[in-house]
Amino acid sequence: MLNANDQTDRAALRSPGHGLDPLLRMQELRRLGRLLVSYEAADFWEMDTQRLPAPLARLRRRARTFAEQHLRPRVQDLDAAHTEPGHLAAPARELLVQAGRDGWMTGMLPAPWGTANWLEMRYPTHLRFAIQVEELARVCGGQMLLLSAHQLGLAPIALSGDLGAMQRFFRPMTRDFLAGQPHLFAYAITEPGAGSDAEDGHGAAHNTPRVLARPVRGGYRLNGRKCFISGGDVARKIAVFAALEGEGFESWTCFVVDAGNPGLAALRTELKMGMRASSAAELAFNEAFVPSCDIVGGLRQGWALNRATLNASRYPVAAMAVGFARHACELAMAHAREQRLGGRPLLAYQEYQLQVAQMIAETRAMRALLWQQAQGSFQARQGESSLSKFHITDRAQAVCSMGLAILAEHGMAKHQGMEQVLRDLRLTRIFEGTNQINRLALIEDMPLAGSQQGCGGDLTISV
Ligand SMILES: Cc1cc2nc3c(=O)[nH]c(=O)nc-3n(C[C@H](O)[C@H](O)[C@H](O)COP(=O)(O)OP(=O)(O)OC[C@H]3O[C@@H](n4cnc5c(N)ncnc54)[C@H](O)[C@@H]3O)c2cc1C
Repeated sequence: MLNANDQTDRAALRSPGHGLDPLLRMQELRRLGRLLVSYEAADFWEMDTQRLPAPLARLRRRARTFAEQHLRPRVQDLDAAHTEPGHLAAPARELLVQAGRDGWMTGMLPAPWGTANWLEMRYPTHLRFAIQVEELARVCGGQMLLLSAHQLGLAPIALSGDLGAMQRFFRPMTRDFLAGQPHLFAYAITEPGAGSDAEDGHGAAHNTPRVLARPVRGGYRLNGRKCFISGGDVARKIAVFAALEGEGFESWTCFVVDAGNPGLAALRTELKMGMRASSAAELAFNEAFVPSCDIVGGLRQGWALNRATLNASRYPVAAMAVGFARHACELAMAHAREQRLGGRPLLAYQEYQLQVAQMIAETRAMRALLWQQAQGSFQARQGESSLSKFHITDRAQAVCSMGLAILAEHGMAKHQGMEQVLRDLRLTRIFEGTNQINRLALIEDMPLAGSQQGCGGDLTISV
């Protein structure tokens, strides 16, 4: 391995006018050679953006600008915030107002329900959302979740294909957001004792649902508890998945519960490890009446609606991880340029160059995988979305750990930002199904042949 003096020699070779300066020598190539090979330093973000179709490139640029202008100034305040259930910290409210007015809260839905740009609609929703989420996560995981968990709440209504429900729930929501009045939705599946089971069902057959719906005149009464519901205490509407009384998880039905329902209470919010700008609430339902017209997709359709929602929402979780890894790369590079060792910047040492190169390569490989998986089809597929989610969030953890190693003791300091990246990132390996559950989901999708014995059979699939 070269030491810092060797590196100085290498830098000298690259100084303008030196006989081995590659940029200079490349100019001596004939035109054809220069057309086929470039030695220009690359701005990877810019290159990736230019390679996107124009509507997606515009979306990416807009998302980055929004994140820099409106999330960046609130990072410190909102990462430190822990509010009482039902209370939005002032900076969080201001952010929601701004995001609503600018169309970010309604931008995945087409007119007349939302504000999606028609040109962007030519591309899969999960790809558009992934592009947006990466930019927000790069700046602040908590604020990203505050804005994005809302889309999860909208998803079962959109995926139900129920035009009446879309009209009834989406139009007032979009009107309010555009008028500067936050009108959040939340998504409630997790129950005390049924997290992974509720998400993928490997154990649901043996588990007892904790939120039950009892039929009464004109609708249903809900009883039980949900936990870890992002934004559940500040949402105006919550998509709650409940089993019909006397039946199991297979009877799950999606009820849209209004925040003003007298039978609904937000008991507490967690003091979380990361993504603190977004609350995780425990909700109690006590004889909460929901009229039949607020059932989405029909009775016993909840299990399918939940699976469909998670298939779509696992891509954005992978995108969060790409955003965190990118942030870690940026922090590590800035530190390695500024911090000096033996009179030279860390980045003058090959040891650090190797680490930074690895971080950049991993991050770009993650994004390439995600975009490749997400752009293939308008349908979100379980195998591809689960694979993206578990693999990318796991790799991002490795990248961010390398970033922390480069910052060393400075990485512990809150103002440096790296410790928040690590705290926020860790949660992506848990929600939308833990990474173990997502690995199982990938295998579950594979056709089995020649055996009735489950995954021990011949897997007739090429990878
Ligand atoms: C920040 C945050 C936000 C969240 N937001 C929401 C939200 O908005 N709405 C919502 O409904 N939920 C939400 N959740 C809940 C989240 O989706 C669950 O935490 C997640 O599904 C894991 O469930 P669990 O915590 O109950 O883990 P458990 O199901 O208790 O799992 C415990 C461990 O067992 C493993 N395990 C379980 N089953 C198997 C199996 N069959 N094979 C192998 N290993 C297994 C898991 O991988 C895990 O390591 C949120 C969670 C967090 C942390």
